[in-house]
Amino acid sequence: MTFSIHGIAVSSGIAIGRAVLVASGRADVAHYFIEPEQVSAELARVKDAKNAVVDELIRLQHSVVLREAKDTPSEIAALIDVHMMLLQDQVLQDGVMQWIMERHYNAEWALVSQMAVLARQFDEMEDEYLRERKGDLEQVVERVLKVLQGKPSELPHAAPLADAGLILVAHDLSPADMLQFKDSVFAGFVTDVGGKTSHTAIVARSMDIPAVVGARTASMLISQDDWIIIDGDAGVIVVDPSPTILRQYRDRQQIALLEREQLQRLKHTVTITKDGYKVDLLANIERPEDAEAAIAAGAVGVGLFRSEFLFMGRAGKLPSEDEQYEAYSSAVKGMQGLPVTIRTVDVGADKPLDARSSAHDDAHLNPALGLRAIRWCLAEPEMFRAQLRAILRAAVHGQIHLLIPMLCAASEIELSLKQIELARAELDQRGVAYGPVKLGAMIEIPAAALALPIFLKHFDFLSIGTNDLIQYTLAIDRADESVAHLYDPLHPAVLHLIATTIRQCNEAGKSVSVCGEMAGDVSMTRLLLGLGLRSFSMHPSQILSVKREVLASHAGQLTTWAKKVLRSDHPASLLNQ
Ligand code: PEP
Ligand code: MG
Repeated sequence: MTFSIHGIAVSSGIAIGRAVLVASGRADVAHYFIEPEQVSAELARVKDAKNAVVDELIRLQHSVVLREAKDTPSEIAALIDVHMMLLQDQVLQDGVMQWIMERHYNAEWALVSQMAVLARQFDEMEDEYLRERKGDLEQVVERVLKVLQGKPSELPHAAPLADAGLILVAHDLSPADMLQFKDSVFAGFVTDVGGKTSHTAIVARSMDIPAVVGARTASMLISQDDWIIIDGDAGVIVVDPSPTILRQYRDRQQIALLEREQLQRLKHTVTITKDGYKVDLLANIERPEDAEAAIAAGAVGVGLFRSEFLFMGRAGKLPSEDEQYEAYSSAVKGMQGLPVTIRTVDVGADKPLDARSSAHDDAHLNPALGLRAIRWCLAEPEMFRAQLRAILRAAVHGQIHLLIPMLCAASEIELSLKQIELARAELDQRGVAYGPVKLGAMIEIPAAALALPIFLKHFDFLSIGTNDLIQYTLAIDRADESVAHLYDPLHPAVLHLIATTIRQCNEAGKSVSVCGEMAGDVSMTRLLLGLGLRSFSMHPSQILSVKREVLASHAGQLTTWAKKVLRSDHPASLLNQ
């Protein structure tokens, strides 16, 4: 039966495919695709883990038999028998094998997927005793998972699947998990939690595939292999669509495809307003290899390289200076002489270093207000300087702009600049070559926007991080779907901070850009142009749509209109005038 689920639209377009459920409640289990040649090794992993649990249960049985006469109730022995039976069950084993061989799921993922299938069958059983065996199945699977996790394997890169049209449905996905799926063939994403500018949503948008987050119970309502449609513009998921609905969405998909093809014609057009103002459209990237998409979209540089993605999902093992140097150099070379803005590591809040060990953040009441970004870097100066040295060394290969996130106070600015000086001195001492870099700061805390002259004194350029600026100005957790309706880029206070930052930078002759999600939102382009912005940084997939908007705009006329918007209590009501 067809039904729909409503969530938050975070990445536009229509996706149609079968649901791939990342089992809810088991988000701590690694989910990744294996390479075809790893299939037999993965099957062997499951077999070894199963055999280890069989041994465990046999040992348990012996100890029960030995103690039976004394204090162990006989039900325990019976329970172990049930567990043993479930473990040997052919349906469980065949199912797991199938997920691994046909879908190339890793062992843990295959196991929890098959458990979800069987759990559903148990739920439907008439007999209460049999229904309750679901709990036993979960315990047995838990044992196997523990053994599997006891020998953790490196997470390989997500490999493409043979068949397309798969839609990932999960309770939650960390940004690092999401990044792993970047090279896979998922046609869309659905998660129960998350807000419009949560980092998971940002990565989904960078992948340019339809996504809906904050869909609350979607992962419980949707079953493995269900046919679903994601409407990434409306934030709607249609489950088990009827042939008529399917046809309508397929038509919309076709129209969107045609529009995209038309946009491609703008690729080589210089971005200039009708009244002759040149506008820089830059790319936001997460990995060096994303430079290719940036070039393909006609970006005139990288305005934000979120370097933290090099640090995430590595079980606490940070990348070395040399490894980072290679990554930054590769991004610089990939951009073929265009400037690359590398932001120093910004972990914390909804970007934990390791999704499976985020205990640090959980232990803090307000991780978004805690030791994240530059605060963490200054608390770990050795790590910070290794990154700075890597960036300075990579600057030998091309133009690098070094950008520091989350700065707030003059003391933090001074400490950061000192670390950069120290990093240069260390390279001098080692006799290692390095290049010049422009220095910039993110304006993403209201205090920074309000104390802008301090920043103008120290930096060559500024970049407005509207995602955090909105979060901190309005006291709205950007990753929390329950307050997502209050997350308002057009709140007069937010617009005031953006407008005054742009104006002061322009007056001081310092370059300024916006690199938050607002920059890639075409409904905001005219307003930002009217506020005097001439540099926008966004996902490569958004560049051509924003370019079309700029080409159709008259910046002079927009200035007068933007002033009116700034004075309004309800700026949103004026946006389409
Ligand atoms: C921002 O805050 O707007 C920004 C670009 O940084 P991030 O989204 O990575 O926090
Ligand atoms: Mg930010």
